[in-house]
Amino acid sequence: MASQNFYLDNEDLRFQVEKRVDWRSILEARGDLGHPGCAYDSLEEAVETFRDLLTDPVGTLAAERIAPRAAEIDKEGCRLEQGRVVLPKAMEQNLRDLAEADLMGMTLPPGYGGLGFPTTLYTAATEIVSRADVSLMNLFGLQGIAETIAKFGDEELKKRYVPLFARGEATGAMVLTEPDAGSDLMAIQTRALEDPSVPGGWKIRGVKRFITNGCGDILLVLARSEDPERFSGARGLSLFLVEKGAGVKVRRVEEKMGIHGSPTCELYFDDAPAFLIGRRGRGLTQYVNWLMNAARLGVAAQCLGIGEAAYREALSYAREREQFGSRIIEFPPVAEMLVEIKTTLEAMRSLVYRTAEAVDLDEALGARLDLMDRKDPQYAQVKKKRDMAAQTAELLTPMAKFYTSEASIRITNLALQVHGGNGYMRDYPVERLYRDARITNIYEGTSQMQVDRAMAKITKGVLEDVLETHSSRVYESPGLRSLSQELGEAKKIFMDCLDALRSQRGLESKTPEQWSGLRSLFARRLTEMGAELLMGYLLLEEGELWERKVSVASHFIGEAVSRVHMHAHVIQRGAAVPIRQAREILFEAS
Ligand SMILES: Cc1cc2nc3c(=O)[nH]c(=O)nc-3n(C[C@H](O)[C@H](O)[C@H](O)COP(=O)(O)OP(=O)(O)OC[C@H]3O[C@@H](n4cnc5c(N)ncnc54)[C@H](O)[C@@H]3O)c2cc1C
Repeated sequence: MASQNFYLDNEDLRFQVEKRVDWRSILEARGDLGHPGCAYDSLEEAVETFRDLLTDPVGTLAAERIAPRAAEIDKEGCRLEQGRVVLPKAMEQNLRDLAEADLMGMTLPPGYGGLGFPTTLYTAATEIVSRADVSLMNLFGLQGIAETIAKFGDEELKKRYVPLFARGEATGAMVLTEPDAGSDLMAIQTRALEDPSVPGGWKIRGVKRFITNGCGDILLVLARSEDPERFSGARGLSLFLVEKGAGVKVRRVEEKMGIHGSPTCELYFDDAPAFLIGRRGRGLTQYVNWLMNAARLGVAAQCLGIGEAAYREALSYAREREQFGSRIIEFPPVAEMLVEIKTTLEAMRSLVYRTAEAVDLDEALGARLDLMDRKDPQYAQVKKKRDMAAQTAELLTPMAKFYTSEASIRITNLALQVHGGNGYMRDYPVERLYRDARITNIYEGTSQMQVDRAMAKITKGVLEDVLETHSSRVYESPGLRSLSQELGEAKKIFMDCLDALRSQRGLESKTPEQWSGLRSLFARRLTEMGAELLMGYLLLEEGELWERKVSVASHFIGEAVSRVHMHAHVIQRGAAVPIRQAREILFEAS
C-alpha cells in the first residue's frame, strides 16, 4: 500500500528532526527561544510545531497528492505555445496545493507575509517534496528568490514583491547562465543600461539560457552594469529585478532528459525595465553568491528526496521479485546494493542537516551582530561563534552539494539495477528517478566547481577544525570506540595528503604550474575523503542516540576508509593524470 505520509513513514528523517538537529542553538541564536515573548515557550513546543508542520500539511500533501501525479507530469512535460510556457496541468495543481497549504513562504520574514521558519526546517520540507516529485522541488525551491529580495532589496521592493511570493501568487527565477557564461559567470555579457525614463531606472538587454522557471513572474537577472573597460569580471556585474512582461520573451523551452515538470527556458531581454538590487558591482560576489549557496543546499535536500524514493522502490521490488525460487533480496549481491543505498543515504542526510544548522546559525548570529554595539561585552563571543558558523557553512555547502548529487546518481543507478530489466522501463518509477537525478551534479554549479570551492576552505584548515570538534569525542561503547579509532587512522592519512599538497613536498617534484594543476586535480579526491570522514564521525555520534546507527556507521566507515586509502595511494604515488600526460593519452598522433 502506498504511504499516507512522507514524514511519518521516514524514521531516519524523523530521527534527524526530532532527536538530532540542534534546535536549541538555532532558536536561541534567532531569538526565538529563551526569553519572554519569543516565538516558543520551550524547546519541546518548538520541535512539536516543526513535527506537526512536516506531518501535515507537508507529509500528507506529498504522499497523497503530489507523488501520485509525478508520472503524469513527467509524461506531459512543459511546452511553449505562442510565446507562453504551458506547465503540465498536474504541476499547476501542485503549486496551487502548496500555496493553499501556506508553504510557499516558509523562510520569508513574517513582516512580509512569510512564516519565518529556520532553513533547517525548510530543508526537511524540501526533502519531502522532492521525494514526491523531483521537478516540483525546483519550483518550491525558488523561495530563495524572494529571500534574496527580502535580504538585499530596498524597502519598496520588499513590500511590493515578497508578500506575493509568500501568498503563492508569484513565482520567480534565478537568471544567470548565458550561452558563453556557464561555470564562468564572470564572462556574462548581458548588459544593464541606466535609463531614468523606464520604471526602476535600468533596462536589460541580452540572452540567457537554461533558466529554470524562466517564465516566472519575478526574475533576478545578473547583468553587466559597469563599463567593461574599467570594471572587468565580477566587479562589473550587478543584480536586477525584472518583472515578466514588456521586453522579456521566452524563446525556447528545452527538451530534457529528466525533471520534465520544471520548465527550462531561453530568455531574450529586449530593453526590459529593471530595478537594481542592493549595490552596483556586488551582484555576483555578494547577492548571487548568497542565492546560489541557498540553492545548493536546496539541491542537496533534493538529492535526499531522490535517494529516499529510489531506496523505497528498490527495497519493495527486491522483497517481491523471485528468481531461482527465492526472493532476490535473499541474494547477497542484491542485499549489498540495498545496504549501500541505505547507508549512503543516512550518511548524506546527516551531512545535509549539519550543513543546514550551520547556515541557520550563520544567518541568525550575523543578524544579531548587526544589531549589537561593538562595545557590548558579549560582542566578541557572538562574533567568534558566528565566524565559526560562517566558515563551516561555506565549507559544508559545496561539500554537501557535491557529495549528495554524485551519491544520488549512484543510488538511483543501483536502485535501477535491483529492478533488472523492469528498471529500464517507463512503467517503473525508478526509471524516472534515474533520469531526474542526473541533473543534480550539473545545475547550481557542477561538481567540478563545488569541489573547487570546498577545496579553498579545506586548504585553509576549516575542515581540520570541523573534524576536530567531532573526532575528539570519546566513546564508552567498545564498538564505537574501535570505529572511531579506525576513522582516526584514516584521518591521519587524509591529513598527510593535505600536508603534502600544501607544502608541495613528498610528491614527485613539480613546476609551479604543475602544482596548481595538481591542486585542482586532487580537489575531488580530497573533498570526498574529507566529506566521508566527517560523515563517519557524524554517524558515530548518532550511534549513541540510536542503536541501529552503529551498524550503519560500521558499514559506511568500512567503505569510506577503504576509499581514503585508495585516494591517498593515487595522490601520493602521483598516479593522477596531469594535463601534459593527459594529452599523450588523449591525442594519438605523435
Ligand atoms: C536543467 C537545467 C536547469 C538550469 N537552471 C538554471 C537556472 O535556473 N538559472 C541559471 O542561471 N542557470 C541554470 N542552469 C545552468 C547551469 O547552472 C549550468 O549549466 C552549469 O552551471 C554549467 O554550465 P555550462 O552548462 O555552461 O557548462 P560549462 O561551464 O561549459 O562546463 C562544461 C564542463 O567543464 C567543466 N568545467 C568548466 N570550467 C571548469 C573549471 N574551471 N575547472 C574544472 N572543470 C571545469 C564543468 O564542470 C563541466 O563538466 C540550468 C541548467 C540545466 C541543465
